[in-house]
Amino acid sequence: MKKILLYIGGGMLLVLVFMTLKTFIFSSNQVQHEAIKPIQVSETAVTRLQGAIKYKTISYQFPGKPDSLEFTGIHNYFEKVFPLIHSSIEKKTFKYSLLYKWQGKNENIKPVLLMSHIDVVPVDQATLNDWEAGPFSGELKNGNVYGRGTMDDKMSVLGIMEAVEMLLKDGFKPERTVYLAFGHDEEIGGDNGAGSIAAYLEEEGVDLEFVIDEGGFIVNGLIPGLDKTMAVINVAEKGYVTYELSITTPGGHSSTPPENNTIGSLARAIVKLENSQFPYKSIPVLEEQIASVGPELSFLGKFVFANSWLFKSIILKGLNAHTTTAPTIISGGVKDNVIPTRATATVNFRVMTGETTDQVKNHIIETIKDDRITVEAVRNINEPSKVSDYTSDSYKIIQKTIKQLYPNIIVSPGLISGGTDTKHYVNISENAYRFVPLSINENNSTGFHGINEHISSKNYIEIVQFYYQFIQNVNMK
Ligand SMILES: [Zn+2]
Repeated sequence: MKKILLYIGGGMLLVLVFMTLKTFIFSSNQVQHEAIKPIQVSETAVTRLQGAIKYKTISYQFPGKPDSLEFTGIHNYFEKVFPLIHSSIEKKTFKYSLLYKWQGKNENIKPVLLMSHIDVVPVDQATLNDWEAGPFSGELKNGNVYGRGTMDDKMSVLGIMEAVEMLLKDGFKPERTVYLAFGHDEEIGGDNGAGSIAAYLEEEGVDLEFVIDEGGFIVNGLIPGLDKTMAVINVAEKGYVTYELSITTPGGHSSTPPENNTIGSLARAIVKLENSQFPYKSIPVLEEQIASVGPELSFLGKFVFANSWLFKSIILKGLNAHTTTAPTIISGGVKDNVIPTRATATVNFRVMTGETTDQVKNHIIETIKDDRITVEAVRNINEPSKVSDYTSDSYKIIQKTIKQLYPNIIVSPGLISGGTDTKHYVNISENAYRFVPLSINENNSTGFHGINEHISSKNYIEIVQFYYQFIQNVNMK
């Protein structure tokens, strides 16, 4: 007996030694680039951002009609504050969306497209008093500009335009054609904006090297065990589907309830779905993320990531690497003594790369095992995006620009759970990358679509500097 225990103890010690060794040889995979001095950006750039925040370019879910005065207002504003762009670059308007074509010298190199969106989400009126400054004031307070669009996504529209205006002033002429595309309805799917622009470009036979959009950030202090700042270039996005589960029964009087009550049956179905979550799974881009982030973590985190063969499930859970299930609406019943004849539940799923929305539907049917309940998709269905190449030259240009401006940062590809307008460009672009150097930390991460959306003027200047350098880098011969 003693001998067996000794063997077990010895075996465990060996595994521990092996795991510790793996931790020590788990070394950084970060590519290095020489730091550059970022271009000087005038503080008046911040004033121009403030001006743009004042336009209430809101996308309403119902009814989906944009306010024409606000949208044409911001168009006129752009013309006024960016005169060089509007006197030297070809512009086309698609409803309230804008496409600029900055002609390159060399037609043989594929063009690139920098994108963003002009529209913002509405503000919940009940939260107005919780804002430090009005959500459409663009006020500068303690070094921060407040308002809808400062994080999503006018800082990127203005950042791109500011950089292009500066490059034009400096006499810069691009080698390859650079498109700038700003949608007006991203927050409600982008069909009329990015959708129309992409359809037009496809008709014109445009074949893009890549598009770059919002959806990847600079992250500070949000990853346990990581002291360094990290830039995530998202190369894929999960799919999106919402299913409505509905049940119809004969109903009846509540004094004599049937065994399978309408609401009870639906509730059981939801509980079953919540109890049979989709499995976590790894995909190559997440493996790459583990290899990029792992070596940079504190010892314990590094130990876990270096031994991902043992801790994979914890890591994948941390990365939310599965199709998520979220019941969001439930309704049924009209009176306290009436058993309803109908009840419905809405469940939203974000579909993991490699799976399909049809598989989700099958999963629901097989899990709930109740053929009285029908399962129908509601509104826009998006399959998971394709995974863009994170070993391509295009990816490397983004990576290089980040490293030039932030020498000590960790850069990693990633997968985003939310959706962007890039989906409209799949037919005409080899790759789609999602990155803006918007700095996210625990103080501002709730600003997306939330209260107190703001950006520091310092961070906004960095965004302009990024685009200024990036446009030069994509035009290096
Ligand atoms: Zn956005």
